[in-house]
Amino acid sequence: MASSTPLIMRIMALSINTAKRAGGIIRDVLKQGDLGIVDKGMNDPQTEADRSAQRCIIASLAKKFPSIQIIGEEGGSDLNVCADWLVGELDEAFLKQNCPTDWQHAQPEDFVIWVDPLDGTAEYTQGHVEHVTVLIGIAIKNSAVGGIIHQPFYKQSSGELGRTIWGLKGLGTGGFTSVKPPAGEFIITTTRSHSNALHQRAVDVFNASKVLKVGGAGFKVLQLLEGKAHAYVFATPGCKKWDTCAPEAVLEANGGTLTNINGEHYEYNADVEHVNRRGVLASSGDNHTELVEKIPIEVRQAVGTV
Ligand code: AMP
Ligand code: MG
Ligand code: MG
Repeated sequence: MASSTPLIMRIMALSINTAKRAGGIIRDVLKQGDLGIVDKGMNDPQTEADRSAQRCIIASLAKKFPSIQIIGEEGGSDLNVCADWLVGELDEAFLKQNCPTDWQHAQPEDFVIWVDPLDGTAEYTQGHVEHVTVLIGIAIKNSAVGGIIHQPFYKQSSGELGRTIWGLKGLGTGGFTSVKPPAGEFIITTTRSHSNALHQRAVDVFNASKVLKVGGAGFKVLQLLEGKAHAYVFATPGCKKWDTCAPEAVLEANGGTLTNINGEHYEYNADVEHVNRRGVLASSGDNHTELVEKIPIEVRQAVGTV
């Protein structure tokens, strides 16, 4: 690797390997059986897997990139981790690609890395492990630019567990095959555990042919990327910047769009409010404005204010 390799390429390449390592930790905690569940709030559990995966990711990224801001869901973590959890190797295949010109000169102070070490914790504790993802989102100057979505329990055709999807705006995506959702249908993917009456009104206006209820922002965006759904609708506050940064970057690197329920992009600088107060609307991108406008204005205005 040339020492001149742009910072964004090195961060992405380390994040790919770190997300994979965190996925191994998440599988190990489940295998060993004691999940160590703590309630952070209503419908908001944390397990030993969330804590350990976060320590692995933040310790690895902070060691290699000490001057970059990293914000993790599980707050301040003890970064004295065992050598086995410290990832230092960059993904060589990723580094073979050319850096998009827009990001070539980004400086350490331009970056914020948003880490959700385990997205879909409720589902992890309930045995729906296929919904679980590790999310590492890379923002440059306020915008979600790069992302890693790792699925620890994805079964490869070889039988091996785990797959790693990445996206970088201006470069593209890797780790999966992009599929367009079926024409002549309208399938929504949405929350299975954080609904309310207002959210239900927003889902109902679409008169969808199918509503898939699955856990995690990462998994729902994967359903868009793989053509299993046309839109991800979440008309309530509750999900956070670490839930959407990586999914937004991967989806948008693939031509899709992820915004709040009013069609506006979230900001990802280090000082923003963590909660995505105005919900999430994501789509494969072709008709995003139309989707926003389908939701009655009074519903959109009420999201985040009641
Ligand atoms: P869901 O679509 O319900 O699986 O949520 C996607 C992500 O947002 C997960 O990481 C959830 O933990 C988080 N989330 C959504 N709503 C809430 C809420 N009301 N309280 C806490 N976390 C939430
Ligand atoms: Mg999450
Ligand atoms: Mg999480």
